[in-house]
Amino acid sequence: MTPVDTNLLLTLHRDLVAIPSVSGGEEDIAAFAARWLEDRGLVVERLERNVIARAGTPGAPVLLWNTHLDTVPPTDAWTRDPFDVVVEEGRVFGLGSNDAKAAAACMMAAAAGLAEGGPVDLWLTLVADEETGGRGTELVWPHLHQRGVRPAGVCVGEPTGLDVATAQKGMLALELVRAGDVCHAANAQGATNAIFEIAKDLTALEGIDLGPPHPALGAASLQPTVLRAGEATNALPSRAACRLDLRTVPTHDGEDVHQVLIARVRSAVEGEVRVVSERLKPVASDAQSAIVQAALTTRPASATYASPTMSDWVFFEGVPGIKCGPGRSARSHRPDEFVEERELIEGAAFYARMAEIFPTLLTREAEA
Ligand SMILES: [Zn+2]
Repeated sequence: MTPVDTNLLLTLHRDLVAIPSVSGGEEDIAAFAARWLEDRGLVVERLERNVIARAGTPGAPVLLWNTHLDTVPPTDAWTRDPFDVVVEEGRVFGLGSNDAKAAAACMMAAAAGLAEGGPVDLWLTLVADEETGGRGTELVWPHLHQRGVRPAGVCVGEPTGLDVATAQKGMLALELVRAGDVCHAANAQGATNAIFEIAKDLTALEGIDLGPPHPALGAASLQPTVLRAGEATNALPSRAACRLDLRTVPTHDGEDVHQVLIARVRSAVEGEVRVVSERLKPVASDAQSAIVQAALTTRPASATYASPTMSDWVFFEGVPGIKCGPGRSARSHRPDEFVEERELIEGAAFYARMAEIFPTLLTREAEA
């Protein structure tokens, strides 16, 4: 494999940041990224506004890198033009410079180094729609899985300061609904009031047992967040509904944790429980897995941690994975977002080295 060329990397990063790509508008950046990778000899495929590229050696251990090309919209708080890329004292300013075009540039540059072959079969997925719920990865990953792509490890590129997230909470959204009798409040003797009924259910949910805590992520949680009932001060409502926000952890071995929790909530209440969204699954990797060890061997100074925030990692349930990338999470979704050039250089070297040593650690994992 060829070492990452610093000028190539920094130019690529600036070019990516200069192309506006607010979620839904990734067409231009996807076309640019696909062409850039193709020009360097990778096998490239487009799937809507997503890019899939393959490098390394077919038949070698499969490693998958995933990051996103989209950004959140700029806010009024920017003191600069968010689409004008400016470098000042080693800092590259621009919307998405940190989240996640830093990881995108580093992964692309490292993948380009594997164009002539290498010890892994590398799949790089650059996706759309991450900031608005993950429809990009939700499209790309099943597409690859169906084609028989079976990664032995996945790395999701997000700004983590190259620290290694080995676990991430999931999210489950439910709606609790109670029906009631519609009548005048003055004539409500014997009537069922949906608000009293949902109050009983909500009380029952406070302190519900959601299973044992995860060693790194802690306990799952349930919070009612939006409560709706009633139109008039003198009438009983026909229904009361409450949104339930559950943050989930992977503790139910071999079971679908979200199905377990839905069943627990249903058995704790009398009302109807509707599933709003259960697709964002909690994920965690064994500390001894090759992908975690590849990251830590590459960068011994990196810390491992459990992430409370969501990323496209949720869609790779069942594949040993990590979330790790250059830049800082604290600078994401902020005005005057930037990344340091030094962080880009370290990030690209990190991914390149990870690809180089991953097969060795996979062998070690199999022998252990
Ligand atoms: Zn991101």
